[in-house]
Amino acid sequence: MARILVTGGAGYIGSVTRYALEMRGHEPVVVDNLSRGYRESVPSGLLHVLDTRDKGALVKLLKEQRVDAVIHFAAYIAVGESTKRPEVYFENNVSGSISLFEAMVEAGVKYLVFSSTAAAYGTPQRVPIAETEPLAPINPYGESKVMVEKVLQWLDRYRDFRSICLRYFNACGAEPEAGLGERHDPETHLIPLILQAVVTGKPVTIFGDDYDTPDGTCIRDYIHVSDLAHSHILAIESLLAGGESNVFNVGTGEGHSVKEVIAAVERVTGKKVPFTLGPRREGDPPRLVADPTRLKEKLGWKPERADLDRIVSDAWKFASAAPS
Ligand code: UDP
Repeated sequence: MARILVTGGAGYIGSVTRYALEMRGHEPVVVDNLSRGYRESVPSGLLHVLDTRDKGALVKLLKEQRVDAVIHFAAYIAVGESTKRPEVYFENNVSGSISLFEAMVEAGVKYLVFSSTAAAYGTPQRVPIAETEPLAPINPYGESKVMVEKVLQWLDRYRDFRSICLRYFNACGAEPEAGLGERHDPETHLIPLILQAVVTGKPVTIFGDDYDTPDGTCIRDYIHVSDLAHSHILAIESLLAGGESNVFNVGTGEGHSVKEVIAAVERVTGKKVPFTLGPRREGDPPRLVADPTRLKEKLGWKPERADLDRIVSDAWKFASAAPS
């Protein structure tokens, strides 16, 4: 059992990971500035409202709470917004991370799991994508994550500081029993938008149906947030046991098109999804699917909820229970 600081623990993936840590018998401590997260996603008593750029406060917290390791989620995550306000993304995501790493060095905490992204690969040459694929982000969000990964490589080399970077594919689904799921404002992600369309009757737009894919719509690797959370637990436990720094893709290895996701929502909800066909969204590669072999082999990870209907069903249960 370890005491683990979860930054961004009031956000979507952070809150589900906090919950998974508790289920595993660890003791999470949460930091969130609540700029995008939700207070009610964290049990009272665990939440420390502060910004990762406040290095002094972090050092104090790490020492007072006798933290063994950190899982770092706190970041802005909207690709579209990052193209409109790049400097804000670098300031928040890169400066916030460096401040955290400085605090960890000062407090003597040397294990970190970092929330990275498949956006680090940009438009990949080879799909399924292995970790060896060149890093070539095509938006400031992806670049901000690559920059932090590079800082971590140097810390591994010149400090007593081990880290694992997890490059997420499309996180989705929910932990409905724990009341935790996806709630972004504004929402830009496909599954919550389709569910909203079912509820409101306002059509969701399919961004392009002229891609070189079997049904013409984009293919993504949709990974259940609880399987994603589990990869963080395996990663932090591996570091705490003396394992090496590494980088892993976290995806199921299977792709689904936008139209397949719509069909899954229709099966699960028993309702028709109203949709319209729109133009392609800028910067959307046709196919992004992980090769998760390294994660399976090195950390023994296996997705337990990879079935698309299961993912949609959990997201639907969460959305149906949510007040909004
Ligand atoms: N998408 C769509 N309509 C929407 C939102 C998303 O057709 O309103 C498509 C998008 O083009 C992509 C997939 O759904 O192919 C997943 O998009 P999302 O924004 O959820 O995640 P991303 O792949 O950008 O990380």
